[in-house]
Amino acid sequence: MSTIYNFSAGPAVLPRAVLEQAQAEMLEWSGSGMSVTEMSHRSKEFLSIAEDAERTLNSLLGLSDEYQVLFLQGGATTQFSIIPMNLLVDARGADYICTGQWSKKAIKEGKKIGSIHVAATSEDRNFADVPSYDSWDLRSDSSYVHITSNETIGGVEFHDYPPNLPSPLVADMSSHILSRPLDVSQFGLIYAGAQKNIGPAGLTIVIIRKDLLARVSSDLPSMFSYAVQADNQSMFNTPPTYAIYVAGLVFKWLEEQGGLSSIEQKNIKKSNMIYDQIDLTGFYRSPVPKNCRSRMNIPFRIRDETLEDLFLKDAKDCGLLQLKGHRSVGGIRASIYNAMPIEGVETLLDFMQHFEKKYG
Ligand SMILES: *Cc1c(COP(=O)(O)O)cnc(C)c1O
Repeated sequence: MSTIYNFSAGPAVLPRAVLEQAQAEMLEWSGSGMSVTEMSHRSKEFLSIAEDAERTLNSLLGLSDEYQVLFLQGGATTQFSIIPMNLLVDARGADYICTGQWSKKAIKEGKKIGSIHVAATSEDRNFADVPSYDSWDLRSDSSYVHITSNETIGGVEFHDYPPNLPSPLVADMSSHILSRPLDVSQFGLIYAGAQKNIGPAGLTIVIIRKDLLARVSSDLPSMFSYAVQADNQSMFNTPPTYAIYVAGLVFKWLEEQGGLSSIEQKNIKKSNMIYDQIDLTGFYRSPVPKNCRSRMNIPFRIRDETLEDLFLKDAKDCGLLQLKGHRSVGGIRASIYNAMPIEGVETLLDFMQHFEKKYG
């Protein structure tokens, strides 16, 4: 196999070392006589795998015991409904900030559950930025404030968070969780589908401040209730066992990389390499202003857009895969999650330079 680099937005690249360990343990996990996929989720072997994964995640994030991690299913999309089902107090509604396609979907689903108020939007600017915090029209009694802290399609990332909000901050971090240090105490709830920066599809991570569990109505269907899931250590039913196992390996890998500060330095370096090239001559261009560019998902255009198909085709021939922009916006997008090695970014940079030399 010649060297291939996968720039998919998700499901996405995983650390090679993690895949190799999963391969080595595929037939038998740690003397148990069976594969992780074959174990009862109530067995002591699997319980130790799940506890280990949770402990490592807690330690990476420096979580205090005011917070509870839940390992759920249904993807971030299911959370678009479950969050308002659990946390929206009818008479108070919730405030949402709209910064792109994923916020829009969260808002659309939220409106089916209760009163959702769009407190700020960048839609009139083509979702090119994060509306400045002082422009947010927040209501003082809102149940929570929802943001999409990294817009995977538009490539817009929050690089800090608004201080002193009147209500708990809820964030969809699907595509940048664990890419940088995080002060969890600023949030009431954080959620993420695993398949971008954590592991295989099928696992959804929720981190909830425990006091919010008191809001959850006992009338909710059990599977949709954060309180029931928390009471049952995320094992009210069969959890996505294999995905939890691989996520645990990724958390350990992150620890070996030196934790989140160290991975952040690598992510800054990798993303700057691509953005510097985009900004260099005007042959390429970024739709996102510098202060809110994502380090994980880098959408860009070629000034002469008719060259984009050729760019994608030639890139593929060079082993650079899945660089096509999302179907809703077109263009090119390089997703460079934690697991994308620096060599992959160097190869892409090299390719961009050659392509520009040839056609610029
Ligand atoms: C991918 C993605 C989603 C959807 O995730 P699913 O797990 O497919 O439901 C939601 N929000 C963001 C920011 C995403 O990147």
